[in-house]
Amino acid sequence: MVTCAPERVAGALNSAIGILGGTFDPVHHGHLRLALEVREALGLAEVRLIPTASSHLRATAVARAEQRLAMLERAVVPGLVVDARELARGGCSYTIDTLISLRQQFPTSPLCFILGADAWNALPLWHRWRELLDYAHLVVATRPGVSLGAIPELARAQTTDFGRLTTTPAGCVGWLSIPLLPISATDLRARRRAGQCLDALTPPAVVAFITAQGLYLAP
Ligand code: ATP
Repeated sequence: MVTCAPERVAGALNSAIGILGGTFDPVHHGHLRLALEVREALGLAEVRLIPTASSHLRATAVARAEQRLAMLERAVVPGLVVDARELARGGCSYTIDTLISLRQQFPTSPLCFILGADAWNALPLWHRWRELLDYAHLVVATRPGVSLGAIPELARAQTTDFGRLTTTPAGCVGWLSIPLLPISATDLRARRRAGQCLDALTPPAVVAFITAQGLYLAP
């Protein structure tokens, strides 16, 4: 399978909505650049950053839900929107439930669910993952030259015609080759525990919040 350079699809803003789910424990420039690169490449109206309440696939977040939400609100820039629906819903955050809820709110808009390579490779472990394409497109961000694992059940949905991601409501998988920053929340938390500086890994307001709240100091 092939990935395409975003220059081919960049254009004017359309009504399509991007969705980036994550723990955001804490949000960092890797998340923000991912959201902004995909927004620009596809001409999305906005990208909604949706923090999970809890996940059946990973350990409980270190920061409390309201702290992760507060950091996101301090981090967003124009074009990015914080969407707290999974926190409001509570319980285990299943992406399928979130996409159903977004589809109810935006009945005809193209919805583009954005995944990093790690998330794509774990997709077959997600709850009701085969139904995700009934509600949204999957936009997988990869680096130039990096190959992702194939998911045979989704092969037929794969497209290199990225115009379809913003002109049809759902049903396609697009692998978008974009520059990604080698930053992870795990690394930020480790740096904080080691007393290292977090500047330029996440926005200054997030660094200030982490410091003020005494976050991520405990092993
Ligand atoms: P952790 O290190 O705690 O696992 P994380 O930094 O990977 O966290 P998540 O909140 O788990 O962040 O990730 C949310 C989404 O953002 C996932 O789809 C993930 O692939 C993607 N993502 C995380 N970091 C980056 C990055 N540096 N570049 C591109 N995508 C990223």
